[in-house]
Amino acid sequence: MKIEEVQSATKKQRIATHTHIKGLGLEANGRAIPMSAGFVGQAEAREATGLVVDMIRQKKMAGRALLLAGPPGTGKTALALGISQELGSKVPFCPMVGSEVYSSEVKKTEVLMENFRRAIGLRIKENKEVYEGEVTELSPEETESITGGYGKSISHVIIGLKTVKGTKQLKLDPTIYDALIKEKVAVGDVIYIEANSGAVKRVGRSDAFATEFDLEAEEYVPLPKGEVHKKKEIVQDVTLHDLDAANARPQGGQDILSLMGQMMKPRKTEITDKLRQEINKVVNRYIDEGVAELVPGVLFIDEVHMLDMECFSYLNRALESSLSPIVIFATNRGICNVRGTEISSPHGIPVDLLDRLVIIRTETYGPADMIQILAIRAQVEELVIDEESLAYLGEIGQLASLRHAMQLMAPASIVARMNGRDNICKADIEEANVMYLDAKSSARLLQEQQERYIS
Ligand code: ATP
Repeated sequence: MKIEEVQSATKKQRIATHTHIKGLGLEANGRAIPMSAGFVGQAEAREATGLVVDMIRQKKMAGRALLLAGPPGTGKTALALGISQELGSKVPFCPMVGSEVYSSEVKKTEVLMENFRRAIGLRIKENKEVYEGEVTELSPEETESITGGYGKSISHVIIGLKTVKGTKQLKLDPTIYDALIKEKVAVGDVIYIEANSGAVKRVGRSDAFATEFDLEAEEYVPLPKGEVHKKKEIVQDVTLHDLDAANARPQGGQDILSLMGQMMKPRKTEITDKLRQEINKVVNRYIDEGVAELVPGVLFIDEVHMLDMECFSYLNRALESSLSPIVIFATNRGICNVRGTEISSPHGIPVDLLDRLVIIRTETYGPADMIQILAIRAQVEELVIDEESLAYLGEIGQLASLRHAMQLMAPASIVARMNGRDNICKADIEEANVMYLDAKSSARLLQEQQERYIS
């Protein structure tokens, strides 16, 4: 398994509207600070959520889950994200919506399983040898062959590297010369070479290796061990799903034909149970060896009432597993039928799952809180908006919803720009508000004009 190739692929886009949320904003004694970590108001829910974070830390949430119940736009997603941030900076957060499980191609439990694995992180620590030094010499051994590339006759290039321990001449494979020339490295520059047991893995201008050269180890003349290197611990955070996906990808060669083959194949690759078991085995080995550490994250399932019995029984089982993330459900439903059945239950959740839940309510915001939340979002989105306009947006928020008021900011800023201004004023919001209906007004309009629609 090649860990280096894994790229994190968490669902970033869906949490874009919550970028201002940096935690739960609680004091050490658990009290909610009125405005902190991007959070405004919703004090009781934040404090209750803080207690859940303590329970998670004390491992008292095993086999249990959290349910956030409250009207739309009352910060349920924000609270869930806040929890994951309180647990640590690199803790995975995977948001999903209940209805996501209904796909004609993938089984419901498969969708749930994939999201569970997106919410479980693995921190992999690797010790790398990093050579650092100023280039004193950069030349192919047989210079005459270099005419628009190196000729076959070159077996190695010489790099002079001045380090704290003195100047050292390194004999390296010609591909490195190519890589360094591409990077416009010249004599006098500082470069970094990352090696693994003396074999070059990557070279670059910084030890973050922004430009990576994925070079095959065996092609290289080993670097002199222990002379010019320093050890560097590289920590990589991935999720189990990242590992599944990376290993399900066709691992063809580098020649044109197999690359073409990869491009023709549909992007979706099959992750099988067998593959997951293999990955689990490797992961467990890494954990036993102390190379990796498990980082359980947060799986947030919004609109939990959209799930059906099959999903609920899967969840009941999955919560018991030792490889389970913290599961947070959210709903804005009261008593309703469990989907696909005639069984009526609070939030549409079967009683056996309800039994495992810690339930926290969220309340709708008053105008002052809404205005503050809107002001924070305006700042994050770099929109200039005056007090009067914010107050007006607050009013709209009270009548419609916080989300609607927030969503009006982007079109209002475009209207402002069309009018030759950078700052949003009340008139721009009024104009945007006329163009876009909020859910409530749209429903009202539908009711009034019922006869004009197909029913
Ligand atoms: P839904 O049930 O419709 O999914 P929700 O309860 O999950 O809604 P969010 O999506 O969390 O609501 O909130 C809507 C927007 O308002 C988001 O951008 C969120 O970050 C922001 N927000 C909500 N509550 C707060 C708060 N108390 N402080 C700061 N920002 C908040």
